[in-house]
Amino acid sequence: MTVISDIRKDGSVTSAFDIDRIRADFPILSQTVYDKPFVYLDSAASAQKPRQVIDAITRTYETEYANVHRGVHFMSQKATDTMEAAREKVRAFINAADPREVIFVRGATEGINLVASSWGRQNLTAGDEIIVSEMEHHSNIVPWQMIGEQTGAVLKVVPVDDSGMLMMDEYKKLISARTKMVAITHVSNALGTVTPIKDIIRIAHENGVPVLVDGCQAAPHMALDMQALDADFYVFSGHKIYGPSGIGVLYGKAELLEAMPPYQGGGEMIDTVTFEKTTYADLPFKYEAGTPHIAGAIALGAAVDYINAIGFDAIVAYEHDLLDYATEQLGAINSIRLIGTAPQKAGIISFLLGDVHPHDVGTILDREGIAVRTGHHCAQPIMDRFDVAATVRASFGLYNSREDVDALVAAMGRVQGIFGQ
Ligand code: PMP
Repeated sequence: MTVISDIRKDGSVTSAFDIDRIRADFPILSQTVYDKPFVYLDSAASAQKPRQVIDAITRTYETEYANVHRGVHFMSQKATDTMEAAREKVRAFINAADPREVIFVRGATEGINLVASSWGRQNLTAGDEIIVSEMEHHSNIVPWQMIGEQTGAVLKVVPVDDSGMLMMDEYKKLISARTKMVAITHVSNALGTVTPIKDIIRIAHENGVPVLVDGCQAAPHMALDMQALDADFYVFSGHKIYGPSGIGVLYGKAELLEAMPPYQGGGEMIDTVTFEKTTYADLPFKYEAGTPHIAGAIALGAAVDYINAIGFDAIVAYEHDLLDYATEQLGAINSIRLIGTAPQKAGIISFLLGDVHPHDVGTILDREGIAVRTGHHCAQPIMDRFDVAATVRASFGLYNSREDVDALVAAMGRVQGIFGQ
């Protein structure tokens, strides 16, 4: 995979990929759908997988598969070593201080549930407050409500402005002695807004409050640095960073993870067990009860390798350019209303076409071979905030091209014609 420097017609230089070579790494992209080229604009829901990740899964099952961590035999050791090497790759990917702070979970959803349940049970009581934002995914709302029902803690919600930016003044006002946790997204999956997460964390810490960051939509689009960010917990899903589904990461500061009770009990997470008393394993295994997603973790390591080989400098520059291009092109269609126009955005454009129902738009685009997502994007409160039931969402991965955008724009022109908008 080569990263090439691209000199535009206007003389500006941009770091860009060899997009054709990148696309060739993703076998699914060369398919046709309804005899049309497959245009995949739904990476925020799940990203496609490069050959390198698919090969890692096959290689694991073909050459190095056995249960991990407890076998003395060769194959178990080999699988364990490869899985733990993947943990180290993830540690480096997010610049965590220690691989013990990298917990393999099923995905962001499980990571948040783990923290809400385990940390929440230990630390929350009636009257305590958890600050979330108006643009959270349901998975960063519902687990906190569930632990709130058990403990009496309540949610406080940071509003967003008309562009989809978090209202930082309101956030500051919400923090009080009752605040016990701030749980906020790094990038909104419904709007694409990049939140000022570093400031959010700093302000929370000035008030002695820990922060959980939902990094699901940030991890594919920007370099992460846990130590610089100083997040207490950070979650993301493997399937959105070109890895498999069913594997994800919960990062937590060691001292917090050490102090919390386990989330699930079972094999792997124990030190000794008697009927009278069980002692727990050290990190990270204390939070990894049962047989893990071995091939998934290994393939997640391959996804990290894949991203590293391209590099976030090039990815960010390329995707930024693509997002600007798509925003400009779609924005030029006069009956399109963009939902989410914050100055800092990543990978996502949500929009409406006149009063056409997003599902109708999505269905017509589908027949053109174009995959977009329509609906509330598991973020109903932010839909309510913008007074819409649903949007059409086009989301981008590192394999999308300007041609994909052109196909979407041309198809939207046809949709516009059909509905007379
Ligand atoms: N948070 C955000 C911002 C998301 O976009 C998603 C996935 N749509 C999730 C959390 C949940 O991720 P998963 O379903 O992989 O657990």
